[in-house]
Amino acid sequence: MSIISKDIQKAVALLTEENVVAIPTETVYGLAGNIFSEKAIKSIFSTKKRPFFNPLIVHIPSIESLDGIVTHIPEKAKVLAKAFWPGAMTLVLKKHKNIPDLITAGKDTVAVRVPNHPVTLELLKQLPFPLAAPSANPFGSISPTKAKHVANYFENDIKMVLDGGACQNGIESTIIGFEGEKPIIYRLGALALEDIEVVIGKIEVKNKKEDKPDAPGMLARHYAPKTTTFLVDDVANEITKHIGKKIGVIVFEKSTNNTNITEFILSKNGSKQEAAAKLYDTMHTLDHLNLDVIIAERFAEDGLGKSINDRLQRATFSS
Ligand code: AMP
Ligand code: MG
Repeated sequence: MSIISKDIQKAVALLTEENVVAIPTETVYGLAGNIFSEKAIKSIFSTKKRPFFNPLIVHIPSIESLDGIVTHIPEKAKVLAKAFWPGAMTLVLKKHKNIPDLITAGKDTVAVRVPNHPVTLELLKQLPFPLAAPSANPFGSISPTKAKHVANYFENDIKMVLDGGACQNGIESTIIGFEGEKPIIYRLGALALEDIEVVIGKIEVKNKKEDKPDAPGMLARHYAPKTTTFLVDDVANEITKHIGKKIGVIVFEKSTNNTNITEFILSKNGSKQEAAAKLYDTMHTLDHLNLDVIIAERFAEDGLGKSINDRLQRATFSS
């Protein structure tokens, strides 16, 4: 029997019994557990094969639930939370002493957000505890944006994927931390930099590629297909370098008009929002076609283009 189900009450029961359940959000599917259950949290790490030095994001139903999770909320964090929650923005704030070290990898900060998905908001409202939920994929591989992506990864490891349809944003949340009262972007993501700056003004980005980063989403190679993947400006030119191979191509809006390749166009009408929503699903599909190479087109560096390029860069060896 499939582990995919729409039954919220079943998810409530499993989570209450300290199991992990995959949950839908507007960004990607999460692998969720009670933040106060050592058993559930350890199970999240072991299921994902995620190293313990990588902290998890805590999911809460509303701003009010920050009480008991964090101790200090900088003024700009309050403004951001009011502007963007529920939504694809994670805030890293000083943690309350009740938050287990396992969640925060021993740090004195905790990452928290209110996800914008009706099914998971309903689930969170019914539970008497918040949920820790990193993305529901094995560590380093492509994040899931559909229930079946999660089932493909974890059919034999978890009891349930709560089905909430395809994720509308399709890439991970934007993570914002604070140095004193000053906000810093730690990870580019589904909420565009420009939209954040409209609300709080110019913001510094520390979205570095590192070998041993603070945050797992910052690893140099992450979100990666098994198929060798190239990120280029000129797709047609890159194709000529791989003649005789089975080639998959991901382009933004314009076809290469090459009939010898498998091509996916992310948004025929040039919407970066639509492109982001389809990106991981397209990578999952291409990765299951036994191709020799995947060639992806680099986006213009504005709006969500920046976040999409960030994920594509981490999926590739080039660039
Ligand atoms: P994932 O949900 O799998 O994308 O991973 C959770 C993300 O949360 C990681 O990429 C980290 O960047 C971030 N994170 C969680 N806790 C913290 C923290 N205390 N400080 C900085 N980043 C954090
Ligand atoms: Mg992840």
